[in-house]
Amino acid sequence: MNIDVPRQELALCSAIAEGDIRCLLMVLVHMSGDERWLEPPYRPKRDVRLIPDPDAGVPPDIQDEIRQAILKLFARGNPKPVIADPGEELLLKMMRTCLGENVAPEYAPLMREEMGFVAREARWSRRPSDATLARQHVLIVGAGVCAIALAVTLSHLGIPYTIVEKNAELGGTWYVNRYPGCGVDTPNHSYSYSFGSRNPWTRFFCQREELLDYLRKVAAEYGIREHLRLSTELTSSRWDEGRQRWVSTLRTKDGEETFESTALVSAIGQLNDPSRVRFKGDEEFGGLIVHPALWSEDIALDGKRVAVIGTGATAMQLVPAIADRVASVSVFQRTAQWARPVKGYSDPISERARWLLAHLPFYVQWYRFNMFWRYGDGLLPFLRKDPAWPYPDRAVNKGNDRHRQELTDFILSELNERPDLIAKCVPTYPPYGKRILLDNNWFRTLRRPNVELVTDDIDHFSGDGIVTADGRERPFDVIVVATGFRVTEMAARLEITGRGDVNLRDKWANDNPTAYLGLTVPEFPNFFCMLGPNAGPAHGGSVIFQSECQSRYISACLVEMIERGLGAIDVRQDVLDDYVRRVDTEHEAMIWTHPGMTTYYRNKSGRVFSAMPWRFVDYWRMTHDPDLNQYRLTATH
Ligand code: NAP
Repeated sequence: MNIDVPRQELALCSAIAEGDIRCLLMVLVHMSGDERWLEPPYRPKRDVRLIPDPDAGVPPDIQDEIRQAILKLFARGNPKPVIADPGEELLLKMMRTCLGENVAPEYAPLMREEMGFVAREARWSRRPSDATLARQHVLIVGAGVCAIALAVTLSHLGIPYTIVEKNAELGGTWYVNRYPGCGVDTPNHSYSYSFGSRNPWTRFFCQREELLDYLRKVAAEYGIREHLRLSTELTSSRWDEGRQRWVSTLRTKDGEETFESTALVSAIGQLNDPSRVRFKGDEEFGGLIVHPALWSEDIALDGKRVAVIGTGATAMQLVPAIADRVASVSVFQRTAQWARPVKGYSDPISERARWLLAHLPFYVQWYRFNMFWRYGDGLLPFLRKDPAWPYPDRAVNKGNDRHRQELTDFILSELNERPDLIAKCVPTYPPYGKRILLDNNWFRTLRRPNVELVTDDIDHFSGDGIVTADGRERPFDVIVVATGFRVTEMAARLEITGRGDVNLRDKWANDNPTAYLGLTVPEFPNFFCMLGPNAGPAHGGSVIFQSECQSRYISACLVEMIERGLGAIDVRQDVLDDYVRRVDTEHEAMIWTHPGMTTYYRNKSGRVFSAMPWRFVDYWRMTHDPDLNQYRLTATH
């Protein structure tokens, strides 16, 4: 990422005006080695907003000094950084200055890795022979973000793998979901891998096409397609104890075949099985009924009367994206939603800012750090129940109550002249009790003359539309059933049978999946489920970060197995039981067990089975270096 001076000097001169002062300061420390840039008067002010102002509260004359110092450094040719890897102590100091807050020391080793100053992937202590490696094979099911992360890790280690994907293209969620407005609500610079070429994101929160394109680029960069079998569905898998192999059945366009592997990884994620809620009379409806995850490009909405059932993340993206081109849209809301405003949510990233991200050394790492932090663990304390808090119905602690007030004020300001909507839109449960949503012009869209928010219960579908409990019929051409996903089954959908003929579905009692670290299950040797039980980020963060933590853990397990000549490992039941106890205890103290709302994080008995209760830094530490004493080990037969 060296700047080709002087050809690019002009570009830097022009771009620097739009640089984020926090990141420019850190670039100065790396390039000059001068720590005075971490002291007053240069220190940025704390700003916890999701997209902060780039001037960082630094006075204009000091900003100028910082920019001039950068220009001077890069005017001297292609400078080498004085500090390429700051080490943990200096990194912590830099992080604290960059954010203007007292970052806890345990984040330093995590961020040192996340920012690429030290390698993340597991290493061999002695590389095995090619013949030994050739006896290994990892079968990865699903070709979304998790599979790509793991594939890259396995490639580095030289461990053979195959990815099978039932769809005709890789990308998982971002390939399947193509409803209007579909995009990410974690900022791209944190919702992207820590490795590989940096993507020139055009927005802070991009749409699915750009994400899919990014995943394709990563796959090309790491030669993943050679290991990828598209339109190939795993229909079942059985552990063969004698041969220490998973024996899987694959369905392809040419029929069924058997595939053997030494390890099996479910990378199908949590949110890919649309919950096709049935409504009384839905077979009578003469128009189109569609779930957003089953959208196809030929669905025409222009000028149509559209119903959208549900007000989750999907509806929140879909409705504002279609409202100006449909004749009308009626949103059927069962529960009101809290949504955080984000200034600049739909803004493009300017050419100049993109130039800095692409060319100025260290700038992109610090930009990524900022995004990681702002969408990271910061919210978690506001989600913890305070037993002494006197108003537990409306909030779980004082800070949560402050958020409640701010978010309520936001709703009121967005809906100021519509008391009818205000009455329907201010939730009664504590903020963030359901999945956190970012406002995508949701409330403003509800104010449009062609948009109606219906809070009466749906009684049934008629031939022409939807009839609510009050007997009123509304006619529609298209009904979008944005009712979410079936989450409880997770990897059990793959019909996996472990040691002793135990089916994963039975092991998980159909509705209560558990796995050590959200990854491994007793009696299912050499099997890992990525983004499995209690591994879904719920307080913020990025699924891609989770996928990298899990890839590191899985590959480190495989490295140790191979080096120690182990043919099978499965986690001990007592280790899992203890982990589940700790997860449940933690969740009891968290907002997601609050009785005031339902969430898809909980199963029928109310247990939170999908969301992770830990800080990201804790999960990173837990998954960094596997302890095989926690496993039952079987030597290679
Ligand atoms: P969801 O969050 O589960 O929301 C489903 C909605 O349907 C809820 O409003 C629910 O009401 C309603 N609903 C369910 N059954 C119903 C019924 N029988 N009658 C009436 N209403 C019913 O699903 P989602 O919006 O598809 O989002 C799922 C997850 O996908 C998100 O939480 C997120 O993790 C992911 N996602 C992410 C993005 C993004 O990154 N931007 C976008 C889309 C999806 P209740 O609230 O009353 O249950």
